[in-house]
Amino acid sequence: MGSEKKIILVTGGSGLVGQAIKQAKQQDPRENETFIFLTSKDGDLKDPAATQRIFERYKPTHVIHLAAMVGGLFNNMQHNLDFLRNNILINDNVLHNSHKLGVKKVVSCLSTCIFPDKTSYPIDETMIHNGPPHSSNFGYSYAKRLIDVQNHAYNHQHGCHFTSVIPTNVFGAYDNFNLEDGHVIPGLIHKAYIAKKEGKPLVVAGSGKPLRQFIYSIDLAKLFLFVLREYEEIEPIILSVDESSEVSIGEVAKMIADAFQLEHGIVLDETKSDGQFKKTASNKKLRGYLPDFQFMPLKDAIDRTVQWFNLNYNTARK
Ligand code: NAP
Ligand code: GDP
Repeated sequence: MGSEKKIILVTGGSGLVGQAIKQAKQQDPRENETFIFLTSKDGDLKDPAATQRIFERYKPTHVIHLAAMVGGLFNNMQHNLDFLRNNILINDNVLHNSHKLGVKKVVSCLSTCIFPDKTSYPIDETMIHNGPPHSSNFGYSYAKRLIDVQNHAYNHQHGCHFTSVIPTNVFGAYDNFNLEDGHVIPGLIHKAYIAKKEGKPLVVAGSGKPLRQFIYSIDLAKLFLFVLREYEEIEPIILSVDESSEVSIGEVAKMIADAFQLEHGIVLDETKSDGQFKKTASNKKLRGYLPDFQFMPLKDAIDRTVQWFNLNYNTARK
């Protein structure tokens, strides 16, 4: 079973997570695996005909489904309808064609920000549908929750092995460093780059108090390969650092300011939203499978990402 030939189609292969998977599979190759990394230039996955053409062309045996409309808090707050519709269309086209073409396994990507807003902590895999998500990103959340519903429906009706992973906040090379639309780490890295150049403080949105568990894209990619190769459940699995590694936005901002050796400190813009206060997730299930997995320390991973951004400033997505 381990040696059967696999053609693994990675949707969203040009993004933060896709590029990290490209690197991780080069570091841990298997002879029987051929990866195909898609970008939106290969076809718009919102379009059923384009999606069908892609699947008929590559005839994948396995799919890692990453493609999505993705954005930080402020982008979500302004575009809940777009996040809902675009992601529903992409996910339905990918899962429908995976079923039609007899794909053996699909691993799709949810996120810890889709969990109920009012919940007990730590959050675990059984809680996804237990109440409304935070109002800031309800469009993205409901579209992502539907992947889990679809995975179970495809399994019940057709016996398909479609599953999903639930990463916490991801960051690393090839992220979206846009100042308004990006997630907090790439957004603050870009702001710090400008602050350094202009000799100004780093302006952090909100109170700096919200808590997050950040996972480095390369660590997440290694875990994705484990799920692709070994995880047999339909139920999702949270891919997160330990609860003890949760940090405040203020602490992360300080690490970024230090990486740039900023001389004018950090200023909080408390007119801006904090979003969800926390979404502390349990990685107990993951630790049951991989008790010894080592995550890169946050400071080291931030330093690497800052180095990458400095080296690739002209071509980075921003
Ligand atoms: P990303 O860097 O924004 O990459 C998105 C990818 O999707 C790109 O390859 C993009 O292609 C592709 N794409 C977007 N719309 C498409 C369309 N209509 N047709 C075809 N391709 C399309 O996102 P990411 O951060 O790597 O996210 C990957 C997955 O992880 C997503 O499912 C996301 O929801 C999930 N996730 C992310 C985070 C996070 O913190 N970033 C956290 C939890 C879960 P182009 O490059 O050609 O535009
Ligand atoms: P979230 O984890 O889904 O809420 O997404 P983000 O990565 O956008 O993180 C948002 C948290 O970081 C909120 O508490 C924001 O107030 C805070 N934050 C501070 N500065 C920034 C920034 O420049 N961009 C973003 N996106 N968030 C910021």
